[in-house]
Amino acid sequence: MRRLVWSCLSLLCLTGLAACKATPDAQKNDPVNKGLAAVGGAEVLGATKTFLLRGSVKEWEPEQSVVPDGEPRFANESTFSVLADVAAGTSRTDWQRKYAYPTPRTFTYSEIVTPGAGCVLGIDASARNKQDLESDPPAHTMSGLRLAATQREAARTSPVLLLTMANGREKVAAVPDVTIGGVAYPAVEYKLGDQALTVLFDPQSGLPARVRTLDYDDVWGDVSYDLVLSDWRAADKLQIPGTRKYELNGKTVAEIQVSEIQTNAPLPADRVTIPPALLSTAAKPAVGKVPYQWVLRRQFIGNYLDSDEQSFDTHAATPGFKLTEVAQGVQQVVGGTHNSLLVEMKDHVIAFDAPISDAQSKWTLAAAKQKFPSKPVKFLVLTHHHMDHTGGLRAYAAQGATIVVAKGSAEHFRKVLAVPFTRNPNLAPQDLSATPIVEVDGRQVLTDGTREVTLQVLDNPHANGMMVGYIADANLGWVTDLWSPGRDPLPEKLNANQAALVAGLKKAGLAPAKFAAAHGSTGEFARSPRSRASKLAARDRPNSARATRAEAGRRRSAAVRASAPGGPRRCRDCPQHRPAVTVAAETPWALIHAT
Ligand SMILES: [Zn+2]
Repeated sequence: MRRLVWSCLSLLCLTGLAACKATPDAQKNDPVNKGLAAVGGAEVLGATKTFLLRGSVKEWEPEQSVVPDGEPRFANESTFSVLADVAAGTSRTDWQRKYAYPTPRTFTYSEIVTPGAGCVLGIDASARNKQDLESDPPAHTMSGLRLAATQREAARTSPVLLLTMANGREKVAAVPDVTIGGVAYPAVEYKLGDQALTVLFDPQSGLPARVRTLDYDDVWGDVSYDLVLSDWRAADKLQIPGTRKYELNGKTVAEIQVSEIQTNAPLPADRVTIPPALLSTAAKPAVGKVPYQWVLRRQFIGNYLDSDEQSFDTHAATPGFKLTEVAQGVQQVVGGTHNSLLVEMKDHVIAFDAPISDAQSKWTLAAAKQKFPSKPVKFLVLTHHHMDHTGGLRAYAAQGATIVVAKGSAEHFRKVLAVPFTRNPNLAPQDLSATPIVEVDGRQVLTDGTREVTLQVLDNPHANGMMVGYIADANLGWVTDLWSPGRDPLPEKLNANQAALVAGLKKAGLAPAKFAAAHGSTGEFARSPRSRASKLAARDRPNSARATRAEAGRRRSAAVRASAPGGPRRCRDCPQHRPAVTVAAETPWALIHAT
């Protein structure tokens, strides 16, 4: 029996060897070998010790669009220069980034990456961590999350990727052809640490056509992220793609044009040396739960907080979330880059916004449970569709909350809640497609008989379907992105978003004394003595003499209307005059407002 087993094993080995010692033709047709030959061959790539690559990039963010599911928002146009030592795995990238969104600004900075650490010299984002703010000149070490993401993308775009793969055959596995646009691309999978790159090859030229990763996106769940290579041209003895695009689920989010590549360019060691003071505190590249899409795409809009927590600065004096009571029974979740709000009702809680990730939502839901025992979060109001304020919606949906959005947004969120999310690091896969979603048409008042919470849709340049909240008994508003009190004072000359807030509230007849916000903290609004908002809002404030006079006028007009033939004119269609809706926790929302 033993002999039989051995014979079989021998046969398998021999068969395996025969496969390994494939015919020259089979070797030539191996996609990696074919690709390697097409880009210049092992000898040429092996002789490439350093390279200098210059180019420009345009980036777009699909989940910061004006319209839900609309055109991706143009984010920035930048130039870069990469100097890399291939064998040492070190590089320096000098950036000049011109951002168009969320506000126009330019950041000029450098990134130095080594296998074990990374740093940023200069200001690279509006969201700066404590280390960067306290450094003079500004500089900080890369978080392990950013380092891992930067290294993954450096490997994906490396001109010697195919040689690395050919030299690491044990990490390469054949996979079935991948069909895109009717073309079947031969493909292999390459293990890169705990990541896998799927490399697709052009069936005619044998050149690599795409390099794909399968990522998790806080909005779209399981996504494909492709580097699409084209416009191949000779550079020294190498072939390099002059145009590289990144596609997220087939949608272009970045387009890179290479203007220059030099192989074996001089590379002075000090150009790729991390300053010792930074190196001593640097993080190792993260493994496991790296939110690649968040890390990469927040850099597209220049708002990435470089931290090993997605939501807050781990180097802050008191890192982490906390609840702050901003009115009786109203708690603001603060401590991160993005806040949310919990409003206590008679038998349930209404939450405003689900920022960033399900990890943040799980903290908020646990805090709500502790603060308001026996009152479930029944409603999650999403002020608008942007990824940074909705990325944690699944955790709310998973525990049964109804999602409340402005008119025109429900279809987007239905799609979002229907996609698979097997790669979500914070929530087990489950079917959330039946989550109730309701739309607010202009205005909706939710009441439990005592507390009234108004949801008001506002016209604004930031996003279609934007709502603010207003808690009448606390005279408190909730605002996301249009104004960030506590961070940005309301200036004498309002910007377009602030002006939209002031004008929209005035039109709606709402004059909150104070706002709590999704960024920053809280701030006086209608009572602020110097604010333009104050002057504008004062006209509607009940306790101002002007408002009192206006109200008296309105009463007189109403009395005239009431005495007119046919009685008072009922205005139930106009959003401002729609009656409040009493919402018990168990009320089916479909009965309140069909979408
Ligand atoms: Zn936004």
